[in-house]
Amino acid sequence: MKPATKVRLRDPLMFGPEFADKLATVQELRPSGKFRIKLVNELRDVDPDDIIPVTTIAYQYGLMDPPDWDQDCHEQLFLMNRFWNTLVEIEHEHRASYRKLLGDAAEVAPLEARANALATEQADLRAERKQLRQATRSKVNPPEITERLRAISAELQHARQAAKHMRATVKDTFGPQIKALDNARFEAAKKARKESKLYWANYNAVMQSYEAARSRVMKEGTELKFHRFDGQGRFVVQMMNGSTVEGLTGGTRPARLDMNLQPIPGRGGKARPRLAMKIYTHIGDQQPRMLTWPIIYNRPLPEGYCRIQNVVVTRRRVATKWRYAVVFTCLVDDMTPISQSHLSCGINLGFRMTSRGLRVATIHTGHYASYQLHLSHFWMSHMAKIDVMQQQRDQARNEIHARLKAQWPQRPDGIPDAFGERLGNLVKAPQIASASLAYVVLQWRAHPWWPEMFVQLEAWRSSDKKLFEREANDREHMLLVRREQYRLFARNLAQRFGLIRIGALDLRKIAQVETEAGTENPLPQAVRHNRQRACLSVLVQEIEKQARKSGSTVEYITGAVTKTCHHCGGRCAIGTDIMHVCEHCSTVWDQDENAAINILAGARSLFEKQIRSPEDEPEVAVN
Ligand SMILES: [Zn+2]
Repeated sequence: MKPATKVRLRDPLMFGPEFADKLATVQELRPSGKFRIKLVNELRDVDPDDIIPVTTIAYQYGLMDPPDWDQDCHEQLFLMNRFWNTLVEIEHEHRASYRKLLGDAAEVAPLEARANALATEQADLRAERKQLRQATRSKVNPPEITERLRAISAELQHARQAAKHMRATVKDTFGPQIKALDNARFEAAKKARKESKLYWANYNAVMQSYEAARSRVMKEGTELKFHRFDGQGRFVVQMMNGSTVEGLTGGTRPARLDMNLQPIPGRGGKARPRLAMKIYTHIGDQQPRMLTWPIIYNRPLPEGYCRIQNVVVTRRRVATKWRYAVVFTCLVDDMTPISQSHLSCGINLGFRMTSRGLRVATIHTGHYASYQLHLSHFWMSHMAKIDVMQQQRDQARNEIHARLKAQWPQRPDGIPDAFGERLGNLVKAPQIASASLAYVVLQWRAHPWWPEMFVQLEAWRSSDKKLFEREANDREHMLLVRREQYRLFARNLAQRFGLIRIGALDLRKIAQVETEAGTENPLPQAVRHNRQRACLSVLVQEIEKQARKSGSTVEYITGAVTKTCHHCGGRCAIGTDIMHVCEHCSTVWDQDENAAINILAGARSLFEKQIRSPEDEPEVAVN
């Protein structure tokens, strides 16, 4: 057991009832062979057999529509969303005054001014290029603009770093002012919480995600984002000290599982157990509001030691329908095995169209053996069909919009107030969203005005709705198919190999339309499209997850894995063909396989010498 491992006591009453069911953390291994643990602020020595390591596992289940959903639930989600946005606003103000405080310092101000001037020039040049492109209707790259943009990019990076460095230097002299700003932020958040009209469980949930998101964006150097409210959201219940599975089914906790099978109101099919949750929509009421969902309880919660710490129900929109799901976060005994396999493999990730489909991974297992993971042509063509559905919807909407525009001058008088202004705005707009037009058509139903046009619009609306639902459901289904394929692949991999080496690839860089130097990312549209199809981040997630389950190790390998010939170690200029003939030793290899072999070899140690030698160009051009 390593230091900081969370453990529970095998005998909960070992140190008396006040410590029963409390968790401890391992501090150190004593020379006596005992573990020193910290248990509720007290240090104790225990035998290794007295403690059991624990870990957190999330169990997710599907839910069906809640029969007792009402306006108050919707309102509570709305209030939570509004509270989030208020917190984001407070955060933005806080960041602005913090930046101003440091930026106004005599040492920092000139550096910031320089960076700002460069950023403005960069934006202006980009705008100029965009205008030029629109005017000539082509992707021109005027050399003087490109040159200047490249220069600015380097200068800007430099200027920003200098300003950042200076800010860090002067920060210490502003201790009291920074503390005052932090206090102001805290007070503002407290006030917002009081005004949010949310019950504590609900605002706590929002506060927690705010704090988590805040530390994430500060690490990334980005900003918190406002969320538009569209009915999506989540309900959270914290279980004090964790609940056992029996506690959950026993019915005394704020979240309950009723295992008695009950029919689903308003529809046939299988009878289901129910999940009930206190959601606190009536503040001050003696009886908290219970909301219930039929739950698709396809596998039991873990047997043995299990403490459910919180229950989160999410509500999200798929086309015009709502989807609900619940996640139980459980503390369970950590049974993570140590992988018994001494085999290792190297994986090269990518997306390349081949005769077998979209190749997303090449796995080298040593001893000249490699295999690939493909997304099948069947899957790819199904996704393409879904895209076509979307295009058809866009086309149908544009047609009906054009017809409405053309006949607008012949509209009869007496346009109803209920939707007149909205409709007028839609007619004027060059581009409209299907949902906005559908909304007006629904309002129109109650008014016998311009029936000829209404009939056409209504026909469009009902066919659009059907297509929309089919498209969204098909897409959802195909993404599940891909996830399942990735999961099975990853499980097989993790069970076979004790060490999995993956070629690190910067997915964010590939996703960027423009490179940092201000030139366009050379990846063509089709490639970007295949990147979305491959969705390698999901694949990596699955590999990590399955490796955790089987106790395998995942390592990320960096270095010139693609350009280096695995056979002779020479550097090659890589073309677009999969098969490559090494320029130095004439060995013929598949590019992805070559990379996978280099990854398995642990590229870093293998190529360290070459990367450092001055005559060598680095893999990624540095500006
Ligand atoms: Zn070679």
